[in-house]
Amino acid sequence: MRLSQSLIPTIKEVPSEAQIASHRLMLRAGLVRQTAAGIYAWLPAGLRVLNNIADIVREEQDAAGAQEVLMPTIQPATLWQESGRYEDYGKEMLRIKDRHERDLLFGPTNEEMITDLYRQSVKSYKELPQAAYQIQWKFRDEVRPRFGVMRGREFLMKDAYSFALDYAGAVIIYRRMMLAYMRTFQRLGVKAIPMVADTGPIGGDLSHEFIILAPTGESQVFYDAAFEDVDYGAGNFDIDKSEDLERFFGIMTGNYAATDEKHDLDAWGKVAEDRRREGRGIEVGHIFYFGTKYSAAMNFSVTGPDGQKLFPEMGSYGIGVSRMVGALIEASHDEAGIIWPDSVAPFKVGILNLKQGDAVTDAMAEDVYGKLRKVALYDDRSERAGVKFADADLMGHPWQIIIGPRGAANGMVELKRRATGEREELTVEAALAKIG
Ligand code: ATP
Ligand code: MG
Ligand code: MG
Ligand code: MG
Repeated sequence: MRLSQSLIPTIKEVPSEAQIASHRLMLRAGLVRQTAAGIYAWLPAGLRVLNNIADIVREEQDAAGAQEVLMPTIQPATLWQESGRYEDYGKEMLRIKDRHERDLLFGPTNEEMITDLYRQSVKSYKELPQAAYQIQWKFRDEVRPRFGVMRGREFLMKDAYSFALDYAGAVIIYRRMMLAYMRTFQRLGVKAIPMVADTGPIGGDLSHEFIILAPTGESQVFYDAAFEDVDYGAGNFDIDKSEDLERFFGIMTGNYAATDEKHDLDAWGKVAEDRRREGRGIEVGHIFYFGTKYSAAMNFSVTGPDGQKLFPEMGSYGIGVSRMVGALIEASHDEAGIIWPDSVAPFKVGILNLKQGDAVTDAMAEDVYGKLRKVALYDDRSERAGVKFADADLMGHPWQIIIGPRGAANGMVELKRRATGEREELTVEAALAKIG
């Protein structure tokens, strides 16, 4: 993209409403704009990050054997009356009436709807186990939306749901999802720790939250220092082998890690004192096993092998896709701006033309842009070099190709790696080869 013709409104001033680095940087780098409290428009650069994250999440869900569906954002209240959650959910639920006075709601989560979809079509034990997921907008009328997209009211979530015939089958899917989550976070370039967690309004008795450690996080967490140095090696386990899943789950849950709601002082006391860590973290994912809570309440049963009626054992699995954008920035930024992990950067390369209007510089910059069109943001504005340097660092492209008149005359560019600040002078070919 050409920056001169893009809706990427970078700003120099620090927005006063933003309290944490990621919120400030998302506004300053022109990724999003707020349209109402906790509701954001995603501008081109922000949307590219969101899509890149969603693509990685999608690939790992597919690899875990979940099938993608897309359910509506608007749901009928009747489904929630069946499960009993219509009253229980409280004020976080945005309730809507249509012109016929029918009660609708903007979905905060989808256990009821997916259970309804399965009960309409799945009748026999032979069709299970199954898992399905979607990447879809949710609405929760948070009392205090804050920190930008981290606690929005409208937000993008990957939500998966599983149906198994028995407890053992449900546990396999739960562990498979845990492995898929660890792989997802690894590919996103962040470290998230699975911690024993409360189940909240979803209900159930087995649950883990995935927490990225950050001083600005809203969760209070307690964990064994083992999690700081362990390389989980999520890639070394076969997601289709239940022995591998068991081993992986054993490693993940072998050391103490819990959020404050589930903090267990007895177990904590058994962790060696010099290994006890206490801090703040951001909840980026949450998985639940809740048995037959919804299948029984909503009367979704299948016929078992002996003709008996079986209520499927269910679980649900969320990742905060839009929250992840903020969380990644919290985990990876410096004074100058964002430092995108290569896997999610909106643009892999920023091309900086330091002397727009100079024939030789323009020609070289256009040539480089022509070769990198799909992955580059070309700063072709008639701004001073200093402004372009600052904006490129702010936007956080993993690579910068800097083109000035002197270098261009000798066929040279400067290549800068954002994460390390390393710069070197190279020919265009060598720079392109290095970027890969
Ligand atoms: P929180 O404790 O932050 O309110 P939650 O426990 O209510 O989150 P879940 O129901 O577990 O959220 O939803 C799954 C995931 O959706 C969360 O782990 C989080 O990443 C994301 N999420 C939840 N609420 C929001 C929100 N208001 N804004 C952005 N992402 C959210
Ligand atoms: Mg919540
Ligand atoms: Mg929570
Ligand atoms: Mg949660």
